[in-house]
Amino acid sequence: MLTNLISNESKRHATIGLLKSHDRERDEALKKYTQMVCQLLKMPMSFVSVLDDEKQYIKSAQNIAVTETGLDEAFCVQPLKYGKTIICPDTHQHPAFRSYRAVKEAPFIRFYAGCPLKSQDGVTIGTLCILDTQPRVISDEQVDIFEKLAGLISEFLASWYAVGYVDIVTMLPNRQRLLKDIAVSAEDAFRLIIIDGIDMPFAYSMERSLGMTAVENLLRDMAAQFSVRLPLSGQLYAVAFGRFAFLAHEKTGPTLDNIAQNLRGTQARITPDVALDLNIHMGDSGLCDKMLTPIEILRRAVSALHEAISQDHRCITYDDVLDTRKKSEFSLLTGLRQALQEDLGLYLVYQPKVSLVTGRVTGAEALLRWQHPEHGEVPPGVFIPLVENTSLMRELTAWVIDHTIAQLTVWRSRGLSLHVSVNLSASDFSRPNFADELEQKMRDARLDPALLGVECLETEKMLESPTALNGLDMLKLRGFKIYLDDFGSGYSNINYLRQIPIDIIKLDRSIVSNIARDKGSRIIVRNIVRLLKQLDYVVLAEGVEDDKTVKILRGLGCDEVQGYIYAKPLLPEALEVWYHDMEPLIKIV
Ligand code: C2E
Ligand code: CA
Ligand code: CA
Repeated sequence: MLTNLISNESKRHATIGLLKSHDRERDEALKKYTQMVCQLLKMPMSFVSVLDDEKQYIKSAQNIAVTETGLDEAFCVQPLKYGKTIICPDTHQHPAFRSYRAVKEAPFIRFYAGCPLKSQDGVTIGTLCILDTQPRVISDEQVDIFEKLAGLISEFLASWYAVGYVDIVTMLPNRQRLLKDIAVSAEDAFRLIIIDGIDMPFAYSMERSLGMTAVENLLRDMAAQFSVRLPLSGQLYAVAFGRFAFLAHEKTGPTLDNIAQNLRGTQARITPDVALDLNIHMGDSGLCDKMLTPIEILRRAVSALHEAISQDHRCITYDDVLDTRKKSEFSLLTGLRQALQEDLGLYLVYQPKVSLVTGRVTGAEALLRWQHPEHGEVPPGVFIPLVENTSLMRELTAWVIDHTIAQLTVWRSRGLSLHVSVNLSASDFSRPNFADELEQKMRDARLDPALLGVECLETEKMLESPTALNGLDMLKLRGFKIYLDDFGSGYSNINYLRQIPIDIIKLDRSIVSNIARDKGSRIIVRNIVRLLKQLDYVVLAEGVEDDKTVKILRGLGCDEVQGYIYAKPLLPEALEVWYHDMEPLIKIV
């Protein structure tokens, strides 16, 4: 149970905390031991005692009604003080025991023996005691039996907690213990609340730079802070790395607002001088009853917690509708993984880009499509956000790149030399050697890298990531054309554009679509285009659907247009037909 990770004193405190707590199964087992002690030693009374800094707690007592006493009335202070078996044949003759109430008043204890209970690594966690109302002398053989029984109880307690019920860093009961406690809970209905206070990537980088001890200090201090700040009526559990949980009673339990209020501004210490502000998120299982399995109750709280983290809300309560949505998202992801593995159902469509200066096609954008075996066409706007931040993104991008390159090869063999851009995310650029690998793939297909462009989303993420920026520089160096996608939607700060090696800026449909109807939008787009042109960017407007908008954009100096006005995203064969029909006949109004 106890490892060398933490000091004996904190181990002692944590273990005492566990032993003090109510645990029906454990206490029933302990009771069998104390019965055995009485039988074997022919003693009328025996008990296991646990002492903290204030009180003595009497566990599994045989023929003793008292459940706790002050330390000044605790016989067991003596064996704990000396760390060995103490035998007092007659309390009336012993100065340390003479004044105790149990000696002076009924039941008039005259004989006492106590043996410390020690954990495997020598930490004293309690005492086994025997009492009699008569003075007694016990033989060496009886002392030997007594100490052996104390050893057995120590081993029992160690193994009780060693079977995986204690989190060894915080010494709090762990997830398995929580599941067991939920199963035997006396409450008819309760909520399970999980608190997350540590950002995993941060914890890993802290471990790398400061070492595991710093992370463990932090976890232990978190446990201490939560124990003090939370309105707990029961136990606090450590259910996963940096995650703590407790059960709240249906009626008397705290509200989430109460809990959030209590945890506001919580800091935990990494070293005595360095404290970290905890970024706390909570998941609440909602009211659960005995009809639900402990695993399901835990799953509900975890599901709510993940929702709170992803939406950056302080707390979210489990909700069936949300859960159903999450489950269907999960099944979509599983389906997509399968589609990628089997190369079934995924395909690319290509939407042309047209120059407003020459009327010629400047290239096309490859857009991913997925024909799901049950749900039919699933739009990329639905499945791509699910894949982002998962390991599947890498496979998905590789699939898009490989199929785009294959298409470029086919088109080249038919004499069509079309530039194609693919959509990538910041995580793609951040991968070491991404640019090298992409260049190699083009070279293997005997294609010039200048035929491929990359459209980058998530400017903000990119600016925060030196590796992503560096990855983009590498792509540019190798001759790939760089597009900045969705400019004007969300984060679009012109001041930072210079940090990214962009060739072409794509104005988002949301700012372009209204310019024919709305003067305000027109003024905004005019200023943006003017500024971008002054900075020498090629400007492409996305989502253009009508002639009037094309005309305005042309007047504003916009270079290219992509939108339904010219073509929807098309299958490769349809794009070829469209290209031969339209090019070079596109009339620019
Ligand atoms: P996006 O990169 O901004 O792509 C342009 C989207 O606008 C496409 O939607 C396209 O079909 C649509 N569009 C083009 N012209 C018009 C128009 O005139 N009117 C309207 N209403 N819409 C127009 P789509 O294909 O549904 O793709 C949505 C988003 O999904 C893309 O936005 C892109 O962010 C993402 N996506 C698509 N394919 C891929 C891919 O292969 N990889 C990655 N990472 N993302 C992709
Ligand atoms: Ca795009
Ligand atoms: Ca876009």
